Amino acid sequence: MSKTIAINAGSSSLKWQLYQMPEETVLAKGIIERIGLKDSIVTVKFGEEKATQTLDIADHVQAVTILLEDLTKHGIISDFSEITGVGHRVVAGGEIFKDSVVIDDQVLAQIEELSALAPLHNPANAAGIRAFKNILPEVTSVAVFDTAFHTTMPEVAYRYPIANKYYTDYQVRKYGAHGTSHYYVSREAAKLLNKPLEEVKVITAHIGNGISITAVDGGKSVDTSMGFTPLAGPMMGTRSGDIDPAIIPYLIEHDPELKDAADVINVLNKQSGILGIAEVSSDMRDVEDGLLAGEPKCTLAFNMLVNRLQKFIGQYFAVLNGADALVFTAGIGENSTLVREAVVKGLSWFGMEINPEKNVRGAEGDISTSDSRVKVLVIPTDEELVIARDVERLK
Ligand code: AMP
Repeated sequence: MSKTIAINAGSSSLKWQLYQMPEETVLAKGIIERIGLKDSIVTVKFGEEKATQTLDIADHVQAVTILLEDLTKHGIISDFSEITGVGHRVVAGGEIFKDSVVIDDQVLAQIEELSALAPLHNPANAAGIRAFKNILPEVTSVAVFDTAFHTTMPEVAYRYPIANKYYTDYQVRKYGAHGTSHYYVSREAAKLLNKPLEEVKVITAHIGNGISITAVDGGKSVDTSMGFTPLAGPMMGTRSGDIDPAIIPYLIEHDPELKDAADVINVLNKQSGILGIAEVSSDMRDVEDGLLAGEPKCTLAFNMLVNRLQKFIGQYFAVLNGADALVFTAGIGENSTLVREAVVKGLSWFGMEINPEKNVRGAEGDISTSDSRVKVLVIPTDEELVIARDVERLK
């Protein structure tokens, strides 16, 4: 029996979930927000209880100290020695990390070197790793990479049609992201379809604030919509997704507020997508309220999102030459009956039909009609569980 903690460290936040392994029971979970700012918010949930406090947390080391103190304070553990493994989500593993690994000094240095590929994420992930190593130096820590699942993509899919030297000299290629989520739901899909994983072809649609669609053949990622960075693919909550790159220099030349490429990329990452079009919010719930009230910008945002999702799903039907199922997951995919209905309606030619009685709030599993040739599945993702399982496997 052991207790394993799954960590997802962002630049100013640290999300965690504590498991009893191998039972896979969630003992507690929480989030520390606004690290490095005034009034950091610490939330811990365990059993039916939820504790929140506000205090100033200077850095990740202090955040980890408070997290561990909270675990003992609330009686979730009696001693730090009960924690036998820590799993860290790391966004970019480049071409080096094809699977999760036990973190030693060399691995940590490589994660930091890979920051060029995920400048917003890898330094924060490394800070989280370092903080735990400081406080629990004897405990095995494992890095689980968002990109690892996509390292099976063939070269035709991961290469961009730009001169070879940009790949060989600068590692410019598609890496993808959300790999842990696509890995998890593709395996759950095979179970639901009652078929061996090796024989299943699925299109997994992770539709949350970030959105990525993946073609999974026999359990392996063969193509995915995120690219060199997580900015690519269908439009997302605040990210534009794919646009013509010639827009970037054009905007620098014409909009005096945009001085350089970094400014434009910032706009494409933070002020675009659903937020850019609907204006009211990046949150799909607000956009759906606007849609139902007939508000034109929300209606356009909703329709554009559906259109982009359909086009990517259609592409992956072609990549896979047919599929057994389309899987919806993440915040919007798991909860939005409207998005699921609209997306599948326009793809009926591919042999998909939703049963409206099954496509309800809280639906899980198969929501298609019995004669739908391609099944439509709703599978809640569980990236933390994959992290905890990888710690068990490797420690
Ligand atoms: P995630 O990034 O996976 O946490 O997903 C966040 C997104 O899920 C946000 O856009 C939310 O608005 C959306 N979401 C959560 N619940 C619902 C719901 N009931 N209906 C529509 N969208 C939802």
